[in-house]
Amino acid sequence: MNLVDTHCHIHSTSAKDDHTAQLWSKLGISTEEIIDRARLEGINKLICVGTDIDDSRLSVALAGKNRVCFASVGIHPHETDRYVNDSSTCDDFESLLKKPKVVAIGECGLDYFYHHSGKQAQIRLLKLQLDMALKHDLPLILHVREAFSDFWTIFDNYQGRLRGVLHSFTDSQLNLNKAVERGLFIGVNGIVTFNKDPKARDMYRHIPLERILLETDAPYLTPTPYRGNINEPKFIRTICEYLSELMEEDPNRLAVQSTNNAHLLFGI
Ligand SMILES: [Zn+2]
Repeated sequence: MNLVDTHCHIHSTSAKDDHTAQLWSKLGISTEEIIDRARLEGINKLICVGTDIDDSRLSVALAGKNRVCFASVGIHPHETDRYVNDSSTCDDFESLLKKPKVVAIGECGLDYFYHHSGKQAQIRLLKLQLDMALKHDLPLILHVREAFSDFWTIFDNYQGRLRGVLHSFTDSQLNLNKAVERGLFIGVNGIVTFNKDPKARDMYRHIPLERILLETDAPYLTPTPYRGNINEPKFIRTICEYLSELMEEDPNRLAVQSTNNAHLLFGI
């Protein structure tokens, strides 16, 4: 199999005082070893997704030194309170976008489930990043949770000129349909292996093959049967096999199609 992990946080192993870094330290191996283990399972490209400016710097640095890694630069909705009144945010963001192997903007979006940042801050930073995607002609990696009504209103203001993926999609058939109508890709991760909600399982079955991207969100969201361990990009294969069974699809066909989708969206 030739697979892509379109969403992981392996660059954050070296972040300081960071929850993600603490999880990686529990795994106790280097970033290079994590990548080698993934490659043994056929995961040949990885997109390292930034969650704030410092974290995006780490993703850009890793992409710069490792052939199989690509970077996404973004400010996660949880982090937006810290940036909303900082006048240097735009400049810092744009200087990172100019670095080699930056293939996307994100993760960005709205999260009204956790509400770690205020609504207005989340909306301001989402708009800033959508504007950047338009200006720099880059795809978006979108994180939207319990916030689709506001999200579609904002997204539709761009009148079909944006492209991207709804990462970690677990929402309704209705919002799946809206995403597909707008040409968005759908990111499926380990949640599919442990989500027992019949409605969600039915929704997964209806994702068009030509819109599926596979992702781990490692070190988070470890798939079954590895729950309790730290997630790693090598588990993309498990997610591919599980999803293909749920969709009654040939796993090799899902692997080929999802890899083609990743190449198409991110130009990698
Ligand atoms: Zn993520």
